[in-house]
Amino acid sequence: GFGSDVDVEFDADIADEEDDLLGGLKIESTDDIKVPEKLVDQVIGQDHAQEIVRKAAKQRRHILMIGSPGTGKSMLAKAMTQLLPNEDLQDVLIYHNPDDGNEPKVRTVPSGKGEQIVDAHKEEARKRNTMRTILMWLIIIVILGYSLFIGNILLGIIAAAIIYLAFKYANRGSDAMVPNLLINNADRTTAPFEDVTGAHAGALLGDVRHDPFQSGGMETPSHDRVEAGGIHKAHRGVLFIDEINTLDVRSQQHLMTAIQEGEFAITGQSERSSGAMVQTEPVPTDFIMVAAGNRDALENMHPALRSRIKGYGYEVFFDDTIEDEPEMRRKYARFIAQEVDRDGRLPHFTRQAIEEVILEAKRRSGRKGHLTLEFRNLGGLVRVAGDIARAEDAEFTTRQHVLDAKDRSRSIEQQLADTFIERYSDYDISMNEGGVVGRVNGLAVMGGDSGIVKPIMAEVTQGHGEVIATGKLQEIAQESVQNVSAIIKKFTNKDINEMDVHIQFLQSYEGVEGDSASVSIATAVISALEEIPIDQNVAMTGSLSVRGDVLPVGGVTHKIEAAAKSDIDTVIIPKSNEQDVMIEDEYKEQVEVVPVSHISEVLEIALVGEPEKDGLVDRLKNITTALDREHQVP
Ligand code: ADP
Repeated sequence: GFGSDVDVEFDADIADEEDDLLGGLKIESTDDIKVPEKLVDQVIGQDHAQEIVRKAAKQRRHILMIGSPGTGKSMLAKAMTQLLPNEDLQDVLIYHNPDDGNEPKVRTVPSGKGEQIVDAHKEEARKRNTMRTILMWLIIIVILGYSLFIGNILLGIIAAAIIYLAFKYANRGSDAMVPNLLINNADRTTAPFEDVTGAHAGALLGDVRHDPFQSGGMETPSHDRVEAGGIHKAHRGVLFIDEINTLDVRSQQHLMTAIQEGEFAITGQSERSSGAMVQTEPVPTDFIMVAAGNRDALENMHPALRSRIKGYGYEVFFDDTIEDEPEMRRKYARFIAQEVDRDGRLPHFTRQAIEEVILEAKRRSGRKGHLTLEFRNLGGLVRVAGDIARAEDAEFTTRQHVLDAKDRSRSIEQQLADTFIERYSDYDISMNEGGVVGRVNGLAVMGGDSGIVKPIMAEVTQGHGEVIATGKLQEIAQESVQNVSAIIKKFTNKDINEMDVHIQFLQSYEGVEGDSASVSIATAVISALEEIPIDQNVAMTGSLSVRGDVLPVGGVTHKIEAAAKSDIDTVIIPKSNEQDVMIEDEYKEQVEVVPVSHISEVLEIALVGEPEKDGLVDRLKNITTALDREHQVP
């Protein structure tokens, strides 16, 4: 029941347990959680953005929202409309202009009035047409009677037909007097929200439809062909534009004009259309613009538009993660309740199911002690889990449903990576036994959330210091080799400038970020140079500095899991990534994670066969300390 619902923010019905996954929430299922009515109160995290939205709604200011997808930008923009007054909404009517048919007139009236005006015009036109029709039939009857009388029925029929057509034409003329209700806010209870993300010019700025019959009484009057754009529909409400940087320059300029003038005339957007001859009087466009995008958006945005927002509005950054605290966990439980509520068909989640989702939120944050704020993806997991439960006719969505959903809702990349792993373990390409010279099991991330083992082979031949690599990774390979060349030169007697290094990426495919491969590349090259085999039971990831320091990389959790799935026993990761490791329990026993901070540690673990290896690692340590001393400023 509603009365017993728990309000996660204020309710006293919570125990004070720090390590309780639900933050001490005493509930049986999400059914017991009260979902706030206002959208703005449903937003989780992003406190700063919430505050800005409230302020901007009061002051009618524009907002630029920057942040990752699915963190609540459009949700907050929509929430803003519930904070705006809805009493002063307007309807917009487009009238035929008797002086110039190509310049339709524009009238704004209080919302609800528009329908009444159109109805009154229609009624009037109907009456007039009825009168005319009666008159017409009277005349036709008289003519036909007369033609019978004079005995020339054919002439009578021709005359009647001419009169019929003349009247029809006149009636069309009076239909044309009925205004076009361009914007109708009669049934609106909140200020409008218009999402024009990716909209073409017509949808954004309005359009006048083409008329194939431009004369002869068959044409649709121009005012009837006028269509509103998002900027007009958003009048006194919110215009939301995601991916603002992808909006073409011309549209951004028009948008600027609409913002500056508060009105924008509608014209046909397609130059060759007859609509392009038509231009209305200005139509009001007094909206609040909420523009959104990721970090790149800032660079590609029209500078004038950006400075407009800066000068007259707010810029706000959306966080990706938030600190994991009991109150936050309670809100995440409420998030599930919100999504169940919104969908309307999903069974409520049990305590254990909620806990599993919160664990997943921890895991996806990629940071110790944090929860992910990428709620769209998390919402996807909730819906898939709920759908599975619903398909089973279950009363509740349980932990098992969530686990199944995690399996099923894996991204295409993850599924692809799994097939790779299966396939290559069949064909023994991803080796996990013995030692091989010049071959290292690198680790990469595909599509942001799935790891894969990616073997790299290095070979050294006589040459001129060239680095030859396959595919798109040429540049990265070159850089990695250059980075370690100082170290290599010092500890091998071989000058790398007198050799060619060939690097081959097995299972090469698109979309692999390469910087995290530099430790792997360096290891493979050193192994090839010194002809010391690499343990194939080891996989590694890490970026490398010129001095051999192992620097942090992204996606360590996914990478470790990929290695575990490929039956690799040891994974080397950068020490500074240690706190990002959040592997699932099932993998914890399968794989040993070794954090390192220097390439010499990598070699110590990865290379096999004493004493060459020990000699090498010792030399390497000496050399790099020497390098350190050289670099020190006296
Ligand atoms: P964005 O515009 O940042 O890409 P959206 O606002 O469209 O993301 O988010 C998609 C959905 O994810 C929302 O409709 C909502 O269900 C959920 N969601 C996103 N962010 C939040 C949040 N901060 N709090 C609660 N739910 C959220």
